[in-house]
Amino acid sequence: MGAIINSINQLLNRTGKNTKIPVLLYHNFVTDSSTVPSYNLDYTCTPSQFEENMTTLLNNGYHVISFLQLYNAVKKRDKLPAKPMIITLDDGLIGQYNYAFPIIKKLNIHAGAFIVPDWLGKTTDDGTYFTWPQANEMKKSGYIDILSHSMKHMHYLGVPINQFVSDTAESFSIINQKIGAYPIEVYAYPYGNYNIQMVQALKKSGVSIQVMDLGVDTFEKINLSNVRRLNIPINYTGEQIMQEINNE
Ligand SMILES: [Zn+2]
Repeated sequence: MGAIINSINQLLNRTGKNTKIPVLLYHNFVTDSSTVPSYNLDYTCTPSQFEENMTTLLNNGYHVISFLQLYNAVKKRDKLPAKPMIITLDDGLIGQYNYAFPIIKKLNIHAGAFIVPDWLGKTTDDGTYFTWPQANEMKKSGYIDILSHSMKHMHYLGVPINQFVSDTAESFSIINQKIGAYPIEVYAYPYGNYNIQMVQALKKSGVSIQVMDLGVDTFEKINLSNVRRLNIPINYTGEQIMQEINNE
């Protein structure tokens, strides 16, 4: 992470109130999207699309930051680079390790991977997931932060609040044991399913950033317990992403 942080340190600014903080959301990465069922295309990206998206955004002045940098900017008024954005990868799918990770290294950028500990190393009807050693390799590279997307990826709205809180705590504790703790707890809700009781319970239990709704926040209005993201579907170009950021 040192190299990345050093390379952007030279560009840091006091972040303006109206500065947008786009958080981009990707799921699976496949080389041939014709094999993907149509209902999954909104959650699929090819390596060439991802590289085009990142290159276009970087060429247009965007700078990739981490959730920790965002947290420190909001809480401690730390400076951020101009046009900050965050890249996120959900669900721990193997395509992220095979295709997104090499591009992230090559472009010297950064991403937060929201993983589901129960799924790691498995193949289910929904996909194949990277393993704990692969998660560790990504974390140790300094390019990927391993964050929680719950223990079991359930519809937690239907679960008693205590069970939801203990499920979340278990996910962080397993990640801490197997990967090492991230300096702050960052959690993304499966399916974006949440209610105010869940948000307050996680905040009380020490979760620093909660990610759930779709959209783009400004630095002035961002709520660390309700961070919004933009989902990037198949064939979306960097230009389309920038338009969507500007329209939000
Ligand atoms: Zn998910």
